[in-house]
Amino acid sequence: MALRIYNALSRKLERFRSFDREWVSMYVCGPTVYDHAHLGHAKTYVAMDVVARHLRLRGYQVRYVCGFIDIGRIADGEEDRLVSGARRLGITPTELADTYIWSFHDDMDALGVLRPSISARASCHVPRMVTWIEDLIDLGCAYETGDSVYFSVDRFADCGKLSQQVSGMQQANVDLDRGQDKRNPADFVLWRSEDSQTPLRWPSPWGLGAPGSHVACSVMANSYLGRTFDIHGGGLGDRVPHNDCELVQSEAHNSVPSAKYWLLVGDLRVAGQRMSRRLGNHLTIKDALKLYSPEAIRYFLLSRPYRESVDFRRDALQAAQRDVDHLHQTVRHLRRRMQETLPSMGSGTAAFSSLASLPDYREDFCDAMDHDFDTARALGVIFDLVEEVGRTLTADRKASLGTLSTMDKLFRDLAGDVLGILPETVGLSGEGKLVEQLVEALLELRSDHIVARQWSQADAIRSKLDEIGVAIQDGPQDTSWRLKAS
Ligand SMILES: [Zn+2]
Repeated sequence: MALRIYNALSRKLERFRSFDREWVSMYVCGPTVYDHAHLGHAKTYVAMDVVARHLRLRGYQVRYVCGFIDIGRIADGEEDRLVSGARRLGITPTELADTYIWSFHDDMDALGVLRPSISARASCHVPRMVTWIEDLIDLGCAYETGDSVYFSVDRFADCGKLSQQVSGMQQANVDLDRGQDKRNPADFVLWRSEDSQTPLRWPSPWGLGAPGSHVACSVMANSYLGRTFDIHGGGLGDRVPHNDCELVQSEAHNSVPSAKYWLLVGDLRVAGQRMSRRLGNHLTIKDALKLYSPEAIRYFLLSRPYRESVDFRRDALQAAQRDVDHLHQTVRHLRRRMQETLPSMGSGTAAFSSLASLPDYREDFCDAMDHDFDTARALGVIFDLVEEVGRTLTADRKASLGTLSTMDKLFRDLAGDVLGILPETVGLSGEGKLVEQLVEALLELRSDHIVARQWSQADAIRSKLDEIGVAIQDGPQDTSWRLKAS
């Protein structure tokens, strides 16, 4: 089946055709780096990570640019949050931004989000933004006032075509820009002068100042991917006015469509509201990782198609943890059985899979992912496979190595490489294997105590394991376990 993507611009499911046969070019709006990232950020970047991973499974090379905003963007009263945060700590805004860019990379590494091909930083592109704004003035799409430069929306009838909320975009621009000298209230700022109090200002033909909120993404995408590229991704919450403004100014500047496909990731919601630092209803990724494994967080975030919003609920994360632990336990058993089967293989043992149903899992998984990256359906396929593998390991003591390794490869390719919910080392690494054997031996001992109704001994083993960082979960069939985050 061909890959089809829901294009937020056309509002249709479209067949994916990249400009280049081998390469897919992709720009994703990065965070504003004045604080640690939270689970709302994780939803966007895990979703876009899975998009890139699936494209790679389909044979594409992916050039993925993520643009970090470190030039000031969100007002904190009268002072920019980068500036106020830096002042509180007695450091410069650039140092503060650097701290949180590294923090973001650490969080994404911990979540198994593959690094972008290019991490672009807005502050390194200010001279290009100045040139870009000069071009827009020359083209008659922007105008100077006393101390600012504005983009003029009047010439663009399709302004706001991404959100189809022209009034929303206008209102947002009115609220954000505070400009008294705009020709049209919906015009948005490209450059604003800054007083001498702020360290975030650069020289320009319009005096010392800073670029407006939206120009950075257009310039960074343009710098690395060209005037037009395949995919633009980001969070749904940035659509108005950010993505609308980005789109109209890019097309005005380049006279060609900006991105071919716009992918907007639904929000993570808390009690009906978007998780955000501004509302203070957020859980940082660092804190979440103290409670749940990275794979459980990914599973939870991918449990609905990326366009849908997901409600943040601790019971849903706990259920995700149980499911992911069950997956890992099944893969451990499978890999142990493979090791046991290997020495007993005679020369005539069939090396091929004897289960006719196995190829269907790959096909069903790819069908789901090819339908606008439907991770909810794809996860369903993985857990059908978990059930089938569990049945095979229980019922068929003589399953061939071919069958077992076909199952293992399915897990590795689909749950591991595409969804990122199965670390490569489950059941395999040397030291990890020793830990697994020790934990399994203790669980067997505990199980013996339970059968003998020696509850205090069984509880003591559980408490000791918990104390040293092993969480266990009793299920109807077996007991699964995982190492807790340190
Ligand atoms: Zn952006």
